[in-house]
Amino acid sequence: MLRDYLEQIKEADLVLVGIGRELQAKRLMDFKKEISNPHYQELIGQEGEDAAWMREIYERDYLLSLGEVDYFKDLEEALEGKNYFVVTSNDDGLLFHSRLDKGRITAPCGNGDFFQCSRPCDEQLYPAKPGLKDLIDYYEKNGSIEHLECPKCGERLIFNVRTEDTKHVYVEGAYLTSWANYTKWLQGTLNKKLFILELGEGFENPNLFRWPFEKIAFYNEKAVFVRVHKSLYQIGEGIKGKGTAIAMDSREFLLD
Ligand SMILES: [Zn+2]
Repeated sequence: MLRDYLEQIKEADLVLVGIGRELQAKRLMDFKKEISNPHYQELIGQEGEDAAWMREIYERDYLLSLGEVDYFKDLEEALEGKNYFVVTSNDDGLLFHSRLDKGRITAPCGNGDFFQCSRPCDEQLYPAKPGLKDLIDYYEKNGSIEHLECPKCGERLIFNVRTEDTKHVYVEGAYLTSWANYTKWLQGTLNKKLFILELGEGFENPNLFRWPFEKIAFYNEKAVFVRVHKSLYQIGEGIKGKGTAIAMDSREFLLD
C-alpha cells in the first residue's frame, strides 16, 4: 500500500511517478453508472464501430466536464511539498482533474481534449469540446451518428490520442512542452535521492517510462524503485537491489 512508502517518499529529494493502464479512467470509474444520459445508456451493448464511436464521444465529453476527482488523493498527500514529476501513458486526462500540480504532469499519449485529422494532412489540433457538443446534439435530435471532417482535406477527424491504432498518425504537438519540462527535470535527478514509483504500467508502450525508469534506477546510486502491477510487476536483474516489485493492482495500492 502507498502508506507503507510514505516515510521513504518523505526522505527522498525527488519523486518520479509513472501512471499506467491499471489507473485509467475506465478502470477507476463506471461510465455506465456515472453517465445517466438515456441516449448514452441506449448505446451500451450496441454493436458496430459507429456505436463505439458515439459511446466514446459521450465518455470523453464526460471526462472533459469533470470537476476535481479524488482517485489520486493519497498520492497527492504523499507528494505534497515534494519536488516530483508524473508521467502517464493514459489518454483520458484524468490526472489533470486531480489536485496534482499540472506543471508537473506530462501525458504523451494525449488527453482527449483535441481532435486531429486522421490522415493527417497537417499538424493542426482542434479543441474537442465544441465538436463533441455538436455530435451529441445531432445524435440526440436526429438519432444518427455523425463524424467530423477535417476542414482542410475532408478526411475524418479522430481524437488526438496515441493508441495502437493511431500511433502512426498521432500528432504530437499538444504534449511537447510538458515533455520538455519532464526531460529537463530528469536531468536534475542524477546523484539525488530519487524515489521512483511506477503504478500499473504494462508492456503496451514500455519505451515511454517502464524501461526508462529501470534505466534511471540503474544509473542512479541513490535511487529506490517501486513497481506495482497485478501481474507485470517483475523487476530487471540489474536493479534488484534497489527495487521492490509489488504484485498488486495499482488501484488497490492507491485507493484501499
Ligand atoms: Zn486533413
